[in-house]
Amino acid sequence: MKYQNIVEGQFESRPNRFIAYVNIDGKREKVHVKNTGRCGELLLPGTPVYLEKSDNPSRSTAYDLVAVKKGERIVNMDSQAPNQAVKEWLLEGGLFPGERTVRPEMKFGNSRIDFFVESGEEKILIEVKGVTLEKENVVLFPDAPSERAVKHVYELIKAVSEGYRAYILLVVQMEDVDYFIPNEEMHPAFAKALREARKAGVEILAYDCKVEKDEMCIRREVTVRLSVLDLISQPLLAWYDSGRRILPWREEPTPYHVWVSEIMLQQTRVEAVKPYYDRFMTNMSDIKELAEAEEEKLLKLWEGLGYYNRVRNLNKAARIIMEEHGGKMPSSYEELLKLPGIGSYTAGAIASIAYGRKVPAVDGNVLRVLARLRMDERDIMQQSVKKQIEEELLLSMPSDRPGDFNQALMELGATVCLPNGAPKCDVCPWKELCLAHAEGREQEFPVKSAKKARTIEKKTILLLRDENKAALKKRPEKGLLAGMYEFPWVEGHLTDDEVLSYLQKIGLSAIHIKPLADSKHIFTHKEWHMKGYAVRVDELSDQKGESDFIYVDAGEAVETYPIPSAFAAYLKNFINF
Ligand code: SF4
Repeated sequence: MKYQNIVEGQFESRPNRFIAYVNIDGKREKVHVKNTGRCGELLLPGTPVYLEKSDNPSRSTAYDLVAVKKGERIVNMDSQAPNQAVKEWLLEGGLFPGERTVRPEMKFGNSRIDFFVESGEEKILIEVKGVTLEKENVVLFPDAPSERAVKHVYELIKAVSEGYRAYILLVVQMEDVDYFIPNEEMHPAFAKALREARKAGVEILAYDCKVEKDEMCIRREVTVRLSVLDLISQPLLAWYDSGRRILPWREEPTPYHVWVSEIMLQQTRVEAVKPYYDRFMTNMSDIKELAEAEEEKLLKLWEGLGYYNRVRNLNKAARIIMEEHGGKMPSSYEELLKLPGIGSYTAGAIASIAYGRKVPAVDGNVLRVLARLRMDERDIMQQSVKKQIEEELLLSMPSDRPGDFNQALMELGATVCLPNGAPKCDVCPWKELCLAHAEGREQEFPVKSAKKARTIEKKTILLLRDENKAALKKRPEKGLLAGMYEFPWVEGHLTDDEVLSYLQKIGLSAIHIKPLADSKHIFTHKEWHMKGYAVRVDELSDQKGESDFIYVDAGEAVETYPIPSAFAAYLKNFINF
């Protein structure tokens, strides 16, 4: 929009909202101020101002004050200019480049909304807010409490629920600012309303303007930051770029690589996963090979990683991908979620890292880091809380690097904002933003409801062998460590005499017995507390021992049969026995 007859003057004073005194060419003029807001930071005595001279001789003031110099830039402060500039921009194809009709002012509910646009099938409402308040190159709205603005925001939320598309367009009446934030201090209710609006689907956009003393027009989009989550991605990605860890699955992040690595990394540390990942990829180089693999071979490759259902599900999902997706891993979050073993975290990781989709990947690490950042008192053990946090993160994550953003968050949780012991706040990219750090309360977050205590099971493990053979058992096909192999064991902690009488009962004659060190293995919901004995017997044969014992070549048992790491303490005895 253009102004006619612009003259320059120096601001002197403003006796009320509508009137100001300005020195123009050495003469003190009473002028009309085209902005009823305070604009106290703009209108300082002696500041250069720009005025449009009216050609209407019957007006009581001959000038309208429309812009002001602030530092090196000119700030337009005409309250009507944003609507006029938006109207021109929309008519030129701004925001909706295709066919559309633009109508200023539409009554909706109890408010008048600035623009109604029809574009194709869509009915769109746009509310415009002019932004003139700037501090350290960040722009804020409102500069005074505005109940009317809050009311408009809630009307737009209602409009979305009735099928409209709705926009809040923040028109920054100056050039080259860093970003927009709501003026939380001045009017918290407006900031809250904006956040609710964004969650409800109202699009909140800010544009700066090309501003000259006689002109203002929409220029380019400005970042909108509504919560601390909107501030985290830039420092996080800069930190990640400057020193991310080199991990084998990151170097060529195909969907298959991301999938297998993320499944392995569940419950397992990066360093522990690396050799397993390499070995797995050497043996199962693609989805087809994985789909065709024998379960026993897979369990053997997984041996030591624990949580064996993970590899069974990989196998099942690979078959589904071969049969239903032509061998190509689906790219959408929703399709990924349908595959066995893939939950919201893994689906988010694959969709974002391998396919560049904007989807969060929230696991315990991410929940912890975000809880500390915001001193969030919600219980992260609740599924509903995890879901809320996924939604909040989705609104704030960058569209251009969603995969890197998710990986950087995971990396921060794994290397800096550590779960046990003190987080390394001094090297954290968020140390200036983090509320828990500011208050020295890092260790109080996250809030977690107490887990159910694990049940304790006592077992006596028996390494039984004769000259050539050793005894193993296969675990049931369902449940804990399903389908794996294990050493025979007896419920409870037995003395050596009790072991000998048990063996006698099942028809085995011991030649000698040696007690082994006690061992403990912790699962998610239970603990095994184990005693062990190495027993040499005269003969292992199908007529002796329990009916579910299997007798295998002693030299090959460990190489051939998948034996879970729960028995790791006894495996080494088995080899040397
Ligand atoms: S500043 Fe400290 S507590 Fe806060 S996110 Fe960073 S490492 Fe975690």
